[in-house]
Amino acid sequence: RQEQFRALRDVEPLTKDGKRITLQMNAGLLVDLPQLADSGADGIGLFRTELQFMIASTMPKGEEQESFYRSVLRQANGKPVTFRTLDIGGDKVVSYFRAQEEENPALGWRAIRLSLDRPGLLRTQLRALLKACSGAELKIMLPMVTEVSEIRAVRELMQREVQHLSKFSHQLPKKLQFGAMLEVPALLWQMDELMAEVDFVSVGSNDLFQFSMAVDRGNARVSDRFDNLGRPFLRILRDIVRAADRNKTSLTLCGEMAGKPLSALALLGIGFRSISMSPTAIGPVKAMLLGTDVTHLSAELNAVLDDDTPGVSVRDWLVRYAETN
Ligand code: PEP
Ligand code: MG
Repeated sequence: RQEQFRALRDVEPLTKDGKRITLQMNAGLLVDLPQLADSGADGIGLFRTELQFMIASTMPKGEEQESFYRSVLRQANGKPVTFRTLDIGGDKVVSYFRAQEEENPALGWRAIRLSLDRPGLLRTQLRALLKACSGAELKIMLPMVTEVSEIRAVRELMQREVQHLSKFSHQLPKKLQFGAMLEVPALLWQMDELMAEVDFVSVGSNDLFQFSMAVDRGNARVSDRFDNLGRPFLRILRDIVRAADRNKTSLTLCGEMAGKPLSALALLGIGFRSISMSPTAIGPVKAMLLGTDVTHLSAELNAVLDDDTPGVSVRDWLVRYAETN
């Protein structure tokens, strides 16, 4: 089967009814980069910049960050890379960054919250990204956004870095795309405001599932209790697609579910046209979509999602759909 998937590497990801699906991969270290060409992914939809911090014994300096990002872009060889700003905290522990003990680290001082409270750290990272991407396109996204005002605050810091670099005649990126991760349910009630503020939205379904179902993603006793292919979560995701369509905002999803063919089938069915996953999943997901008529799937799946008759599991329905279509 591995061979079979490898043979699909250069096959365009078109569904049976001709919809082009963007398949990107997730990465975080230079060792991941060769997989970009090997998998045939369209780009890196999520680059987890905290990985460089997690494997270091001391805080990487601005120059080290810059040269790291430069290497990533060089090895990406023209394919787009979406850099996520530091997502430290929660399940992502950085030993030399001594945060206080927290009772609920997943809900605590982490990600964009920490970055906004340590603007020096964030500005260093933004500057490193701007310099590494000079003359190229820079795509940045922010993790764990809860209120749209947080995005505006980062944008202001970014503007200051841009001004600073232009003052010293640095060549800036030729295009800057600014996005937010949708991981915190509060954003679901700020959708139009959010989408007016960003160039793209990327759903972090691992965290969005954790927070919307109130299940710790790392606690096996509860993490399997609810199904991410159940009605509540798929309806949430479908509402996100509708808001993005309404606002004509580019949308993608980069959580683990994107890499499971059955979940990816559900995502296509509710309207996602771009997903990012671990590189080994690209082949199996592409094999699935090449054989799928999304127009037909969508009509059927939407009806199943709207049907509250007890006993009809969406997961079972999807398995049957995959077997018979
Ligand atoms: C997510 O939460 O779904 C996500 C992609 O980010 P991470 O897994 O790094 O928290
Ligand atoms: Mg996350």
